[in-house]
Amino acid sequence: MCTTVEHLFERVKHPGEQLFDARMARSGGDQRSYRRDPESTSVEAQTTHVDQKENVMSRKKVLVLGGNFAGLTAALTVKHQLHGDVDVTVVSSSDEFLFTPSLIWVPFGKRTKKDITFKLGPTFEYHEVEFVHAEATAIDPEARRVETTAGPQDYDYLVIATGYRNRFEVIPGLGEGGNAHTITTLDDAIHAGEGWQRFREKPGDVVIGATQGAGCFGAAYEFLFNTSYQLKKAGLKDRVKLTYVSAEPFLGHFGIGGLPHGESLLGMFLKKEKIDAVLDTAMDHVDEGRLVLADGRTLDFGYAMIIPPFSGQEVIRRTPKIADDNGFVKVRDTYQSEAYDDVYAVGVAAAVDVPWQTPTPVGIPKTGFPTEQQAHVAAVNIAAQIEGKAPDAHKAFGDIPAVCVMDAGNNGVVILADKMLPPRKHGVLIPGPQAHAMKLGFEKYFLWKMKHGQVRLP
Ligand SMILES: Cc1cc2nc3c(=O)[nH]c(=O)nc-3n(C[C@H](O)[C@H](O)[C@H](O)COP(=O)(O)OP(=O)(O)OC[C@H]3O[C@@H](n4cnc5c(N)ncnc54)[C@H](O)[C@@H]3O)c2cc1C
Repeated sequence: MCTTVEHLFERVKHPGEQLFDARMARSGGDQRSYRRDPESTSVEAQTTHVDQKENVMSRKKVLVLGGNFAGLTAALTVKHQLHGDVDVTVVSSSDEFLFTPSLIWVPFGKRTKKDITFKLGPTFEYHEVEFVHAEATAIDPEARRVETTAGPQDYDYLVIATGYRNRFEVIPGLGEGGNAHTITTLDDAIHAGEGWQRFREKPGDVVIGATQGAGCFGAAYEFLFNTSYQLKKAGLKDRVKLTYVSAEPFLGHFGIGGLPHGESLLGMFLKKEKIDAVLDTAMDHVDEGRLVLADGRTLDFGYAMIIPPFSGQEVIRRTPKIADDNGFVKVRDTYQSEAYDDVYAVGVAAAVDVPWQTPTPVGIPKTGFPTEQQAHVAAVNIAAQIEGKAPDAHKAFGDIPAVCVMDAGNNGVVILADKMLPPRKHGVLIPGPQAHAMKLGFEKYFLWKMKHGQVRLP
């Protein structure tokens, strides 16, 4: 039988609580843990029981909703930040990580589900984060409790990382059973692929676009140029008129106000690929085989892919005090919600104010790089709060650098800027086939990084 303090601590170690020894060493060892419990029959059992209870009581619990770019990064970063001395639970409605940037390739059969997803369970288990595959259905920030489809979860700190949902309501004829495809979820992209197969058998003109209020313009451009590339490969390019329809005030606005020479570069790309552009336009509805614009113009198509605006999840919208009208969480630059110091929101779930008014409304692209940065800032601040310090890490969305690779099939553009939103000092677009190679490499690297929980890597 073990009699030393060290051995007793060894016995109470279990996954997720490897720091018992370190904590006890720091506190000099708490002899109260060794009181005899009258209910218990052995010293060893009672010691284990009391010590576990005290640790459980003192350890803070961080609850993360969502397990993709933002949720996975925040959960593992807060765990690492506190050297494991925190309970972290992730509740996500998907039990898989999805590398959304590769959805542009799914309709053309260049990627399947297994190429761009991995199971979250093993990653979280390895990093001693509890994973619950469930949907959050109600949040009570006053009671610090979240109702989920797998039962309630209490928390000391909450991170909302529930991303986006498609706001198909913006135009009749979009969404399930509608007349145009989209690629913003895995199911959408798979259906868009089924439609593409039908189109290949009976080709017609093609419309690719983004509605008023949309922000994910990068994906629209990528899909446009990939479609052009696929049409060429299929020998259809000369028979098919390809049109880009967008709410952007000018080509290459991207929802970030554009970058130097972006408009002329995109213009050159479109000219070279013989693509027509209809800009600064709102859409009215999509009929079968016909897009009707707000000004009454029509575009007939045999295939259409249209990116809708995004909104936050309904559960967020229903939560008093925290959400804006679109269901995104209003945050400070610490990523704490405006209403509660212990509720954070990161990634697409966090609201961003659009700093300009365009004739046709455009949204802001909430891409992967700022998402990861926000998740890091939030995790550092939660760790600080747990350690009794001020949450003083901060980085406003607009000040985070823009880093993006836009694929064009066998070509592409690397987009770099010192800030997501103007005023900027630097911004550059670098076109060329190396961009396509970079996107391929980045996909592999990023999936590896996230699967192995290497969230501290760039
Ligand atoms: C087609 C497309 C292409 C893109 N390409 C690029 C690109 O090339 N480069 C780039 O940087 N960015 C790109 N993006 C943006 C990128 O996908 C986002 O930045 C990223 O997905 C944001 O991650 P997130 O974790 O905030 O949200 P999400 O990825 O939306 O993840 C949210 C998670 O929360 C879960 N969830 C939702 N509701 C609940 C609930 N009620 N309870 C529990 N869990 C819930 C979901 O299942 C999901 O796992 C692209 C996006 C799209 C749609």
